[in-house]
Amino acid sequence: MNKKVLQAHLLKDFADSELLKLPNPTYKATKSYLNGKELKKIQLAYNFAFHAHDGQLRKDGTPYISHPVAVSNILLELKMDADSICAALMHDVLEDCDVHKNNLVKLFGNDVANIVDGVSKLSNLNITDRLERDANNLQKMALAMARDVRVILVKLCDRLHNMRTIENLPRAKQIIKSKETLELYGPLALRVGMQDIRAELEDISFRCLHPLRAEMLENAIKSSSGGRKKIVEKIRKELKSHLQTNEIENAAVKGREKNLYSIYNKIKTKHKPFSEILDVYGFRILVDSTDDCYRALGIIHNYFSPIENKFKDYIAIPKSNGYQALHTSLLALNAFPIEVQIQTRGMWATANEGIAAHWGYKTKDSSHGVELRASRWLSGLIDSQKKSANSSDFAEGIKIDLDSDEVYLFSPKGHIYSLKTGATPIDFAYEVHTDLGDSIIGCKVNRRDAPLNIELESGQTVEIIIAKSKVEANPAWLNFVVSSKARNGIRHRLQSQKISAARKAGKVMLESELKRSGVSLSDIKASSLRTILDSIGVTSLTKLLTELGSGKRTGNIIAERFYSGLQIRKRAGTQGSNPLTILDNHIEGVSIVFAKCCMPIYGDQAIAHSDTERGIVIHHQKCKQVAPFANKDQRYMPAIWGPNKKEYIYKVKLSITTENKIGVLSDIISIFTRAGLNVDAVITKIIDQNFTGIEMDIQVKSSAELEVVMQKVRSKKTTSSCKRLINEK
Ligand code: MN
Repeated sequence: MNKKVLQAHLLKDFADSELLKLPNPTYKATKSYLNGKELKKIQLAYNFAFHAHDGQLRKDGTPYISHPVAVSNILLELKMDADSICAALMHDVLEDCDVHKNNLVKLFGNDVANIVDGVSKLSNLNITDRLERDANNLQKMALAMARDVRVILVKLCDRLHNMRTIENLPRAKQIIKSKETLELYGPLALRVGMQDIRAELEDISFRCLHPLRAEMLENAIKSSSGGRKKIVEKIRKELKSHLQTNEIENAAVKGREKNLYSIYNKIKTKHKPFSEILDVYGFRILVDSTDDCYRALGIIHNYFSPIENKFKDYIAIPKSNGYQALHTSLLALNAFPIEVQIQTRGMWATANEGIAAHWGYKTKDSSHGVELRASRWLSGLIDSQKKSANSSDFAEGIKIDLDSDEVYLFSPKGHIYSLKTGATPIDFAYEVHTDLGDSIIGCKVNRRDAPLNIELESGQTVEIIIAKSKVEANPAWLNFVVSSKARNGIRHRLQSQKISAARKAGKVMLESELKRSGVSLSDIKASSLRTILDSIGVTSLTKLLTELGSGKRTGNIIAERFYSGLQIRKRAGTQGSNPLTILDNHIEGVSIVFAKCCMPIYGDQAIAHSDTERGIVIHHQKCKQVAPFANKDQRYMPAIWGPNKKEYIYKVKLSITTENKIGVLSDIISIFTRAGLNVDAVITKIIDQNFTGIEMDIQVKSSAELEVVMQKVRSKKTTSSCKRLINEK
């Protein structure tokens, strides 16, 4: 790459005389239908590509630039718009060179940059290591990735030139490329209506994969026809003159030569010998009226002998997609089987306008949105080719966005899934399997870690990372999933999480009540439990605990029912409830949560709150969230700390005010690190000229440990205050 010259291009810092001229064939083709401004843009694109590929060689030793030039020449033959030609010239600069998409936007605008980017993405769609054998899905994915259909056209011409020069590649690569072409690019060319390119792509791939079969087939065709083109032309003329002499004035007759690969496919799929492949020669007759169709049929049946059972009247009985024509097979010139389709020009146009009509009878699935849009584009293309002599109109006609409402994604094994646009890895997980969605904890997109709310793009490979045990769903996920499968899955999980949290809280409440009389739920016999539950009027213990935990029933009333059911008397002198004992992060074997508002730690005066959403939550007694209710509501229970056996670590927030001096902050942090405490986060803000406020998140094992270290902070001369934040009033 010539960095200096590229830089000059980016700055547009050069004289016109310094620009390289376009190669002559490219120049001529451009001039034949594009204007001076467009010519200039194409010349700039050529210069840009030339310097970007400076020093690179193709496999055959020629300078690399010869490839993009050849690709642009194919597109020029198709009379494509200037932006497509520019993109073709630069289609490999993002891949191989140090060029960024932004550079292209600046110099050539969004359209050119997007086409180049799209072509690069398609090139990276390495399909050979995919298991997905549904070619239809792959094509849809490519169409959805392309967005702008010009991406597909440039990519097809790129592939065509690469196939035309495939002999330069090592054999193994030839095979990969040929397979890929047959699976993806040939069918794609058919979908966007580029019949000739499709035939050439398929024939080259076929010759490359099966050179012997191709040669045999070619020889067979040659010997059976003695020059196909001559024969086709002879039959065409004969058909035309018969129609004319019989007063069908305005008939057009076109030869439809089948390509080698489609003949081969027919032999293979229909298991017929070559001699029986009847439609080696196909013809289409276009006339002005339905009446003329039947008359034309009569006329050609009169001159050539029809083959039995091969006549089909799709005019009287159209195909389900609306396709209309007469089909017949004949023996022409006493030797050549030919297949003839007779249509009015109107029928022909209809068949080309609707996707269903055009592709519906060639591909299995015709109801897809992407195809529909591609078809609208296709009919627009045909129309604008017919109507516009002028190339800028044509460019307008082609600019239809393939903006898809679906994205197509690979699983790591290569299966393709389609999802709504905007889908995230969570949608993907639920699409693959509910179990996968239920246990997702992370994901990789194209083998890199990615956040769960990332919007997926067509062509990406998505790997879902799952937890070994069940994980809690996050209500925030509902904000970024787009599929109903994912939404329902998450809602279902949240609902059951709520129930299990309430049940846990209910268990703690009831156990702590019963404990005052020395009873535990596990001591109660099943038969007496049944009687007690019946007396309360609830069907199961789980239901009772859930209702207790969510505040629908009151703990001491239920406890009374248990006492009378068990025929024991409540112990005297136990007014108020016994405190719950916190062991690490459990109470009575039920996991608890430490409130984020007041951040209680081991040794604090604590209150347990039975929260309907989160189960048992431990607060600091002074926390303003619980203090006002502590003695009024059954769901607030005093809690004490059991032995801190596992040395559970708690988080705490400190607020420190110090003198505003250099080095003070690092001094304070070192007090914590020397005490072996982790500092999670530090926020400083200047209070005034003399003082700075510091807020820190610290990890500690107990309030005693915290007190020691806070004393050390306070003892520093520079400290004016150090206090713990516990969300007090
Ligand atoms: Mn290329």
